[in-house]
Amino acid sequence: MTPGPTEVPAAVRDRMAEPTANPDIESSFLECYRSVTDAVETIALTGADGDPTHPDASRDVVVLGGEGILGLEAAVASLVEPGDRVLCLSNGLYGDGFADFVADYGGEPVTCEVPWRETLDADTVRAMLEDADEPFDLATMVHCETPTGTLNDLEPILDVLEAFDVCSVVDAVSSLGGTPVPTDSIDVCLGASQKCFSAPPGLTTCAISDRAWDRIDAVENRSYYLDLEAWRTVVDDEWFPYTHLSANVAGLETALELLLEEGLGSVFDRHERVAARCRDRATDLGLETFPADEADCSPTVTALEVDGRAAELQQAVLAEHDIVLATGLGDLADDVLRIGHMGHNARDDRVDRTMDALADVL
Ligand SMILES: *Cc1c(COP(=O)(O)O)cnc(C)c1O
Repeated sequence: MTPGPTEVPAAVRDRMAEPTANPDIESSFLECYRSVTDAVETIALTGADGDPTHPDASRDVVVLGGEGILGLEAAVASLVEPGDRVLCLSNGLYGDGFADFVADYGGEPVTCEVPWRETLDADTVRAMLEDADEPFDLATMVHCETPTGTLNDLEPILDVLEAFDVCSVVDAVSSLGGTPVPTDSIDVCLGASQKCFSAPPGLTTCAISDRAWDRIDAVENRSYYLDLEAWRTVVDDEWFPYTHLSANVAGLETALELLLEEGLGSVFDRHERVAARCRDRATDLGLETFPADEADCSPTVTALEVDGRAAELQQAVLAEHDIVLATGLGDLADDVLRIGHMGHNARDDRVDRTMDALADVL
């Protein structure tokens, strides 16, 4: 019950145990890869009601062999030129991390921060853009800050960025497939296999707009392994830059089929309902969520305040109840206990069992 990697359903494990095609030679691999990119595109462009957010919107999706961080770094490596000004919006650890990547690739990160207990705010972003001496080339942000359990309301922020013609890169690793992500107004939207998709770690998904491709085309300083450009035509050319992780791609295909069969409206509702249940049960135990406002809590992960007791509680729940929880990260490592209810784990019975265990241990 951690906020990723999540438990992998049996159907996905069985699929990964089957013989796989040679990804460099056999066309059946290409069909499998294409079905994964189509499914990710559908998920990324689906709204809360389970219908497409904008029926005419489309995104190129590429799936890279490597876990989530690869996608974040590949996006920065592919879109940032030395000297580019990048607005890094942050209310947490992953938001801060984007600024480090931007600096690593020669960009000039300018951070727009809000306290970690709060969520990003469109008016603050607008004020920064209005007051800036020079325009920004790019903005980075995180949808769900997994370490602190916040979910940012991105739509108003993306509207502001659009008005200033700033390209957006969004880490939706721990929200995509669990709650709607406004991908139709995001230029590069990043996901990963081991969070709400409930496949094992190993793949990162990037949904890329035409505007982002134009920027990627224009970047001169190219890496090889991290370059998204090389992936633009893999399906048409039937050629991958490196041997793909065929068993992982096959497993992800099955995992995404399970999501689409259930129906995304139902999947999103299930996450909302289960998260509310988790928070209610925490309140009954006298625990508070880390985000100050309940409306800022993510439907995929609940971060609880447990001053200095996170490791102790984590170990006791594991030893006595065989359930794996996560602590906080960084400075908050021992002050935050995190319960993931994402993907396959976003179920009432699983959250009930977890909260019964936590109650017992407390
Ligand atoms: C899990 C996660 C990542 C990717 O990290 P991994 O090393 O693939 O686990 C990136 N961003 C966020 C917000 C995440 O929750």
